[in-house]
Amino acid sequence: MRVLRLKKYLIGVMFAVFSCALSMGLTHTVKKAENLYRISLKYGVSMESLAAYNGIKDKNSLRAGQVLKIPSKTVKIATRVSNVSPPPKSQTASKSLRVIIDAGHGGKDRGAVWGGVRESDLNLKVARRVEASLKSKGYPVTMIRRSDVFVDLRRRAEISNKYRNCIFISIHFNATPHTGVRGAETFYVGKRGSFLAKSIQSHLVSNLKVRDRGYKFKKFSVLSHTLCPAVLVECGFISNSYERSRCKTSSYQAAAARAIVSGVERYDRTY
Ligand SMILES: [Zn+2]
Repeated sequence: MRVLRLKKYLIGVMFAVFSCALSMGLTHTVKKAENLYRISLKYGVSMESLAAYNGIKDKNSLRAGQVLKIPSKTVKIATRVSNVSPPPKSQTASKSLRVIIDAGHGGKDRGAVWGGVRESDLNLKVARRVEASLKSKGYPVTMIRRSDVFVDLRRRAEISNKYRNCIFISIHFNATPHTGVRGAETFYVGKRGSFLAKSIQSHLVSNLKVRDRGYKFKKFSVLSHTLCPAVLVECGFISNSYERSRCKTSSYQAAAARAIVSGVERYDRTY
């Protein structure tokens, strides 16, 4: 069955390459929730050349239905043709997915501070655990920060936008003046971001035994300027005294990190 699907897929890809070689004026109609990065990957061209070719100044300004011209030298296509299924995930190189880990805040920006607990410190502790675990599983990892330093939000997105085939995970702890509020929640932008957020959130809730505040679309600056699937994880509320006492323990931080890693693995297996 798998061999048959792979065969169908290869025939589809060959057909796409052939069609493209014949067609000098290849175009692409932007789909809902599709970004320039995804399209550049699809056609094997750099994002910069695609933007320049179409006179796009703001890479986040694509809209559904917009027609883009694909640079004509492109014949290397790894796109899916409609009614052709991709090969099963087990036959693809899943470990090449790069994970960009963003420990929120840092340096002069301490994030939330409650009961002597600094959010920026907790974020970094979880981030370093996630880094170690993902590396041990063979994932390439990029850390936005590894120490208590300030990194501008735009800069965080710029660092991640240097990479292809990556996902971006910003790690935070939550706070609110309503000190009764607690639980974990995950935010995302983009369709693939929603898959990743759903996957991480479900593991957070089961690993940490915390209230499920869900996964939600939200255009945080650090997410909306990032081109790869991007999520922001809020591991718990340090403004709630019960949850704060849990959040500052290494066992809670380790469980949060495991949840994030499990979420990444499930995402990587599925998409
Ligand atoms: Zn934060």
